[in-house]
Amino acid sequence: MFNFQVLSLLSKVPKNDINECPTTTTITTKKPYKCNVCRLSYGQGSTLDIHLRSVAHQTRIGRLSELVASGEVDAFLPVSEQPGGITQKTIGELVLPSTTSELEKVRFVFEIF
Ligand SMILES: [Zn+2]
Repeated sequence: MFNFQVLSLLSKVPKNDINECPTTTTITTKKPYKCNVCRLSYGQGSTLDIHLRSVAHQTRIGRLSELVASGEVDAFLPVSEQPGGITQKTIGELVLPSTTSELEKVRFVFEIF
């Protein structure tokens, strides 16, 4: 049941993201440091670092499950990308814990009854 819910959530991500790939690739060559949550690209790692700590970014992180559900953010992309950087958690992986806790709350309510 849990996996089915996640799959249905992920399948809501619009496939038209593929059409944006040529544009994204052009940006990537100039600005390889990317925040996939906010869909922003930076030319320097330090600038991305500042962005990742910004209120604007944290606000988006807080609404992540909402953004994934609406298709605004691609759950299969890592949160941030940088050349030679370590493999980051995907946005989907960040969304899952909150989904799990929601389900646990539901289960808890059922246990009371
Ligand atoms: Zn961001």
